[in-house]
Amino acid sequence: MPPKKAPSPAASASAAAPVPAGPPGSGLSQVQRALRKLGLVRDIDFALYLPMRYEDETRIVRLADTRDGDMAQVEGVITECEVVYRPRRQLLATIDDGSDTCQLRFFNFYPSQQKQLAVGARVRVRGEVRGGFVGRQMMHPSVKAAGTALPNALTPVYSTVAGLAQPVLRREVRSGLARAVLDETIPVQIGLRGAWDLRSALSFLHYPTPDVSIAALEDHSHPAWQRIKAEELLAQQLSQLQARLERAAQRAPVLPAPAEPVATSLHAQLLAVLPFGLTGAQQRVGEEITADLHRQIPMHRLLQGDVGSGKTVVAALAAARCIDAGFQCALMAPTEILAAQHFGKLVGWLDPLLAARGLRVAWLTGSQKKKERDEMSAAVESGQAALVIGTHAVISEKVRFKNLALAIIDEQHRFGVAQRLALRGKAVGHLEPHLLMMSATPIPRTLAMSYYADLDVSTLDELPPGRTPIVTKLVADHRRDEVIDRIHAQIAQGRQVYWVCPLIEESEAVDLRNATETRDELADTLGEPIQVGLLHSRMPTAEKQAVMAAFTANEIQVLVSTTVIEVGVDVPNASLMVIEHAERFGLSQLHQLRGRVGRGAAASACVLLYAPGDSGRVGEAARARLKAMAETGDGFEIARRDLEIRGPGEFLGARQSGAPLLRFADLTTDTLLLDWARELAPVMLRKHPDLAQRHIDRWLGTKAEYLKA
Ligand code: ADP
Ligand code: MG
Repeated sequence: MPPKKAPSPAASASAAAPVPAGPPGSGLSQVQRALRKLGLVRDIDFALYLPMRYEDETRIVRLADTRDGDMAQVEGVITECEVVYRPRRQLLATIDDGSDTCQLRFFNFYPSQQKQLAVGARVRVRGEVRGGFVGRQMMHPSVKAAGTALPNALTPVYSTVAGLAQPVLRREVRSGLARAVLDETIPVQIGLRGAWDLRSALSFLHYPTPDVSIAALEDHSHPAWQRIKAEELLAQQLSQLQARLERAAQRAPVLPAPAEPVATSLHAQLLAVLPFGLTGAQQRVGEEITADLHRQIPMHRLLQGDVGSGKTVVAALAAARCIDAGFQCALMAPTEILAAQHFGKLVGWLDPLLAARGLRVAWLTGSQKKKERDEMSAAVESGQAALVIGTHAVISEKVRFKNLALAIIDEQHRFGVAQRLALRGKAVGHLEPHLLMMSATPIPRTLAMSYYADLDVSTLDELPPGRTPIVTKLVADHRRDEVIDRIHAQIAQGRQVYWVCPLIEESEAVDLRNATETRDELADTLGEPIQVGLLHSRMPTAEKQAVMAAFTANEIQVLVSTTVIEVGVDVPNASLMVIEHAERFGLSQLHQLRGRVGRGAAASACVLLYAPGDSGRVGEAARARLKAMAETGDGFEIARRDLEIRGPGEFLGARQSGAPLLRFADLTTDTLLLDWARELAPVMLRKHPDLAQRHIDRWLGTKAEYLKA
């Protein structure tokens, strides 16, 4: 079958005009929508949209001079051309350039291509030369008529999306670059002496002269790149610094920090009812938070701690401080299951203590009945609900707080920027709530410092005592039987088991079917009286909660689920975690999943079942992930390896939706430029605030628009 037709170039003619402002997506052509997806709206966005690689179409080489693996452009005469059907349908042609011949092979082709390659035609082809046993070959080379003028610059290749053909994108970028105003924003006296100026660097990187090393262009080490990376890092540092200054200008409720513990305070009473003492790390972090709450600048703190490090208690104690001061606190989790767990735990600890004060804990989610929600909302509005727990429904427009002073977000990387911004709307008068974000996927320190300059970080670097380390085993899929034996052994000891199925398909319905089949199979294999339950994101909330409750009560011994249990679920009696197709999961996800066991005193284990793909082996990155899992249980080490495997862009992308990710600079290698930008940003913001603002807008403007939308 011929490939789908690329959009006709004519379709893009209208896109040359500036894209009208307005909500994303309304009344735009397909090309404009695709451009928007790439963040290409203003002229400057196009100018700063740099190629990911280049093709050298400036030279014609002799076939005889090419070696295996070379990208080559040659010109010659077609001497043979036929469609063959074995082993599968394909177009085979031979080109002869006088020095040698080369076979051209196409599995997908248009009739027009067949015509272009008619015997006797003179053509120019470009592709990777494979020098095999049977002579030279190119798979799917590009084909043009011979004799057209050679370009005098390398041809840029931009990363694109469906519905936007490379030639169309190239044309859009070329005209955007030509229109863009590229005056300097970095003042000369503090700028980059001797470096490329912005306009030359951009023109050069879009259309480099053929004499430069393509490798240096593609790995961003060429001096023109230095200029671009410096600009980008500076924009990032400036915007972070600006956010910090803006926050410093805001006011938050000042929550008194009693010099001496007050025995009758909620804080002290909560400490007294906890069935354990705090770890040193929990105490230290608690003090850091208390100190923040005592300031008139809104807290903006990330509490990171490995799975099981006890973040919930820290959150509860912060909430108690807030309530002691006569204010309200909100605690939000990304899923209803997790929110329900927090609710269960905190109600158990706090409700009796709050009741004595005429206060209560409220529960708010999107799925609850209107009557219940209205009742909860009323309690929130009157202030009777001193603590509100739920999903993002907590910050929905309809909910009005009497005096919200502290918002706690669990698993913050699951929340979007929009939701975090919505919190701002909950300010009481001109007082912004303090914000505490919790995360179990730590960000290595170097990244935290440069990416979250606007964030203070507290770290729980100590697990509660009495935990036995989780033993992690890699088991090939064909040895499943051994895993079944393990499950029997655990259940015989009164323990429980998680079995996680991967997301396989795009469609949740198919995943549900897979998970359902796994549940049935396991129930069959394990036999009576073992109960096997199923948890899937497709299930209605009430059903999910019923299953979780049954698992918590050990009425279900084996819980089969898709990744809905990834975050936060806490059933200390579960001691075995089996993850099927572990090679398909991300590293931090695997670590999160593993953290669901090892929560009680029992020795726990995690079995990573892996299955080689069609190639017969597990891919390299997947192998590195499994190896890391087997070798370490330390979340910080896992994060470090994850960063190493994926690189900072993807690593952070998975953690922070909407963070201004770096497109060109690399924090782990461009440290000198980063130092330069860090040093310069405060000076520039102080001495040249207008230029600083222009610089931020230029680099992050379109993105910022989208974040607001
Ligand atoms: P996470 O940081 O992953 O959110 P949790 O807050 O769910 O961890 O805590 C994990 C488990 O450890 C819970 O059962 C919690 O009650 C328990 N826990 C928390 N702090 C301590 C402590 N200082 N001593 C003993 N157990 C603790
Ligand atoms: Mg948690």
